[in-house]
Amino acid sequence: MTKVISVFNQKGGVGKTTTVVNLSAALGKKGKRVLIVDIDPQGNTTSGLGVDKRQLNSSIYDILINELSIADILVETSSTNVFLVPSNVELAGAEVELIGLNNRETRLKNALENIKDKYDYIFVDCPPSLGILSINALTASDSVLIPIQCEYYALEGVSQLMDTIKLVKKSLNKDLEVEGVVLSMFDGRTNLSIQVVDEVKRYFKGKVYGTIIPRNVRLAEAPSHGLSVMDYDPKSKGAEAYEELAEEFLEWSEEEF
Ligand code: ADP
Ligand code: MG
Repeated sequence: MTKVISVFNQKGGVGKTTTVVNLSAALGKKGKRVLIVDIDPQGNTTSGLGVDKRQLNSSIYDILINELSIADILVETSSTNVFLVPSNVELAGAEVELIGLNNRETRLKNALENIKDKYDYIFVDCPPSLGILSINALTASDSVLIPIQCEYYALEGVSQLMDTIKLVKKSLNKDLEVEGVVLSMFDGRTNLSIQVVDEVKRYFKGKVYGTIIPRNVRLAEAPSHGLSVMDYDPKSKGAEAYEELAEEFLEWSEEEF
């Protein structure tokens, strides 16, 4: 069965895109078929997987606004078994254009219906906002994966994030669940990182993955080469961490689903 997962946190720079790219790549290497939907106008997942945003004839924008089918738009990526519905800056206008359209919250859900079965996992990389694009992602999803950065104010905005999930659950998607929480950019040398881990674990109880993603320069460099960290530097701490996360992710997700 296919599981659709939104990677969501309305804060920017917390590791959403890095997690989507590298968790997908790690799952792809294990033989899982993965589709990524980039629903962020910044298109960082798109370029991070080696797809040139400027060369796109069509993108997620056409799915949401022109109701094209996903099969017409998806592209291969630099990672084995990982396919992508790309995004570019054109999507920035969709936020406003969607307001006047029918079924504006369910457009992604409807588009995924036909192709869902071809994949084991579909990850939706959300923009850093609580707007209609994120609502489309959450409405189309079985669950939400929440990356949290091990920094000051890590939990700031989390209650708003949980409220958004509750709201979507109530009105658009009653089965939406929290898949898990990924702690990212951990720096073991600082007490702060250690405190944040404790705090997040207290808040989310059993939902936090044991695998913690360290701050690792290879993770920051890989996107400029259009590669996942596994393809860029498979021996790096970043690659090891995302491979471990993929193992744990599979255990949890197959258990619950
Ligand atoms: P988001 O998608 O939530 O905005 P990103 O995944 O794009 O966040 O991460 C923000 C920035 O931090 C990017 O430049 C990314 O390369 C970098 N980054 C993310 N995770 C790590 C990490 N574990 N170690 C080092 N740099 C990271
Ligand atoms: Mg991002």
